[in-house]
Amino acid sequence: MTTGLFFPTCAIFFSILLNVIYFSKQRVKNTENKLYRFLVVSNLFALIFEYACTFFSNNYIPIISDIFLKIYLILLLVWISIFVIYMTYITKKNHKILKPFWIGAISVFTIAVLIFPISFEQTVYGPTITGVPVNVVYLASFSFIIIWIGVCFFNRGLYFNKKVLPIMVYIVLGMITSIIQKLIPGLLLITPTETLVTFIMYFTIENPDIIMIEELNLAKVQAEKANSAKTDFLSNMSHEIRTPLNAITGFAEALKEEKDLPERVKEDVNDILMASESLLEIVNGVLDISKIEANKLEIVNNNYNPYKIFNDLVTLTKSRIGEKPIELIVKIDETIPKVLYGDHTRVKQVILNILTNAAKYTNEGHIELKIDSLIKGDICRLIVSVADTGIGIKRDKIDKLFNKFERLDEDRNTTIEGTGLGLAITKKLVQLMHGELVVQSVYGKGSKFTVSIDQKIAPSDVKLDKTLEIKREDLLKDEDIIGKSVLVVDDNKLNIKVATRLLKDYGIKVDSCQSGFECLEKIKSIKYDLIFMDDMMPKMSGTETLHKLKENNSNFETPVVVLTANAIAGMEEKYLSEGFDSYLPKPIERKELDSIINKYLNNE
Ligand code: ADP
Repeated sequence: MTTGLFFPTCAIFFSILLNVIYFSKQRVKNTENKLYRFLVVSNLFALIFEYACTFFSNNYIPIISDIFLKIYLILLLVWISIFVIYMTYITKKNHKILKPFWIGAISVFTIAVLIFPISFEQTVYGPTITGVPVNVVYLASFSFIIIWIGVCFFNRGLYFNKKVLPIMVYIVLGMITSIIQKLIPGLLLITPTETLVTFIMYFTIENPDIIMIEELNLAKVQAEKANSAKTDFLSNMSHEIRTPLNAITGFAEALKEEKDLPERVKEDVNDILMASESLLEIVNGVLDISKIEANKLEIVNNNYNPYKIFNDLVTLTKSRIGEKPIELIVKIDETIPKVLYGDHTRVKQVILNILTNAAKYTNEGHIELKIDSLIKGDICRLIVSVADTGIGIKRDKIDKLFNKFERLDEDRNTTIEGTGLGLAITKKLVQLMHGELVVQSVYGKGSKFTVSIDQKIAPSDVKLDKTLEIKREDLLKDEDIIGKSVLVVDDNKLNIKVATRLLKDYGIKVDSCQSGFECLEKIKSIKYDLIFMDDMMPKMSGTETLHKLKENNSNFETPVVVLTANAIAGMEEKYLSEGFDSYLPKPIERKELDSIINKYLNNE
């Protein structure tokens, strides 16, 4: 082997390796990949032809030797052209304007290589090629690089980043090897330089896998941004809708309790309340699903009385069934412990969702609610089944039941209200509580949904929230509560009006103010028994006001309840950790207000 072939020999190993690595994997179909494929292949062929040329220089065969020489030079030309096109493409994506230019330039240079004569020259290191075509290749390389620099400047200036690293290496190495090549013509360095640059491109910068990872990362960041924007939007929307809804339900609730109300007005008020309830259900559903998707929904465990929940469920289902000719059959296993430890709000939500669906999608017959238990050690498995004689679900549609916003049999359901979120939320909640949800259904006959959730058994003497057991009628004439003073802090006048209206029913003295600053002033001179504080207020939020109240007054003892439309899941825990004593979401629910009044104003 001649000394001059030392570098091409090393290069050929690398080039074969690169071809194997590159073609052994499936690649994304994009322009960079297509161009790079040409680079890898043309470089390998150029090296093979360089070998062949060296052979022919020693064993000259007319015409055939010339053809091999010219093909070799054309391969060099192909490599440099594609390399510069590739670099132009990644620095300036809309390289299409340059396409006719590239085609023209490559054609001219190729024709020049083909028509001008070429010959070999022997040196101490081995043979070398001489003649005009060699200079044409040099000229092509030089002019293409100049054009690339021009394109960069034209676009936004040339600056160094990792994308331009291969071309920088090529420029520097190209200059060095060209000089060496001129001084020591037999040392074949040009093609190995191209191998090196192709190699650098693959392993450092433009490895298509790296592009893919970068694109995936970018897509991930964009998706995360979009998702958090969606969550923000939903929480704002929740706030915006809840505020007017608070006024609607608040006044309707107050009106409902008005004595001497004509029957027709009473019915209208009930309809207003029902419509507001549906609206609130929709808002809550959308918020729940977005929280679940953002992995922000947490399971909050507490001790609770399951029988209280079962009772509530039966009452709510009865009202949902309304006038329909449906019998509600309830079978509850009485061995279920009196106190369980778990997230009672979510357990209730899950069972209520399937009961509500049973009531919605059944026109006549019966709904059977069966609650069984399986006790193992300190764990009680609640097995809740809801069977109905409703419209049923087609076998092939069962899989779609849990897709969000998916409603089956839309044509039959047009008169039944729904968003298609209930079961998607139910399933996620059951998963979060490590439970199971099974559906059986016969189309046209009925469905059965079975949920099993494990709950811890709590000692039956643990103290439960006494507010669970209160009766509204008792509260309204409670001597302890009458005359107590409450401060309502809210920047929205309408909200103050609603709260005042609702609180007056208990015989409470209600004072109000519209900002945190006013609240701080009032507290200096008046002692209240309870404060209801809105959180989202301009300049000073409710949370900031609470912190100031506690800072200014080391023995500040008045309970402060956050009264907020910011009601997405997880907010209660956040507000309690900020120092609020309780959390009352808007729209204010009578029952929740009752329990707060009972807890803080009833001395018994
Ligand atoms: P929706 O708000 O529409 O009730 P869900 O997610 O709760 O949303 O339910 C999704 C779909 O599953 C419903 O639109 C309905 O077609 C079907 N479905 C749910 N429960 C029942 C049931 N008990 N009987 C018949 N179809 C049901």
